[in-house]
Amino acid sequence: MRYLVFLSLSILLACNSTSQTTVASGDVAASPEQTRPDYRYDPPATEGQVEPFDTTTEYWKELLTNQEFNVLREDGTERSFSSPLNEEKHAGVFACRACGLPLFSSETKFESGTGWPSFYAPINAAYVTEDSDFRYGMKRTEVSCARCGGHQGHIFPDGPQPTGLRYCINGVALNFVPAEDL
Ligand SMILES: [Zn+2]
Repeated sequence: MRYLVFLSLSILLACNSTSQTTVASGDVAASPEQTRPDYRYDPPATEGQVEPFDTTTEYWKELLTNQEFNVLREDGTERSFSSPLNEEKHAGVFACRACGLPLFSSETKFESGTGWPSFYAPINAAYVTEDSDFRYGMKRTEVSCARCGGHQGHIFPDGPQPTGLRYCINGVALNFVPAEDL
């Protein structure tokens, strides 16, 4: 009898550990943050020539975290001073978080005091698109990634020379790639 109880317990424990393993591996597979690379950097084959692409909402939901999806696909705005890229001062490029297109360089980054990563120009004018944005009773110029259409932020006419423009960008929409990794 004692042996039978022991046997039943062993089977029960074995079943439990099996089901726990299954749940754990399922969690990992469902998390885009853990399955994707640390950063994505995918410049165009020919400099200055971007091949736009469109895909499904499901694709972006799988690839992006909730906050990235909100900013890049739903035109959201991150809280000011919330992105570590606001303080990033190393040499390198800032690529679109969704598709890896290099959008901005550390060479045009400046301290705007706004709490959002700010640049006075994109790496290449062909890599961004501009649209009028009339939401919230303001006329603003929205800037997006020219390849995936991901919302990046807005452009304001109060930046430093030589352009006089301020590209006010959500850090969560960017990946910083250090110059030594390029
Ligand atoms: Zn993109």
